[in-house]
Amino acid sequence: MESQNRVQVRVDHDVCVGSGTCAMVDPDHFELVDGKAHARRGAVEETEELADAVLDCPVQAILSARA
Ligand code: SF4
Repeated sequence: MESQNRVQVRVDHDVCVGSGTCAMVDPDHFELVDGKAHARRGAVEETEELADAVLDCPVQAILSARA
């Protein structure tokens, strides 16, 4: 059965300033490539680290929605 806690994650590259915060807070879900963050996977389990990364992004570039 599918988990109820899956979210779709993506980074708006027009907004991301490449601070690297998300990749430090939640390296399982984010990596920096050429100065921009990328979500490693689209639909993922919602974890505390993921929630922290979304909240800690200084420019609110991480978009997440229930998958
Ligand atoms: S925390 Fe936000 S601005 Fe910084 S790299 Fe991640 S998505 Fe980009």
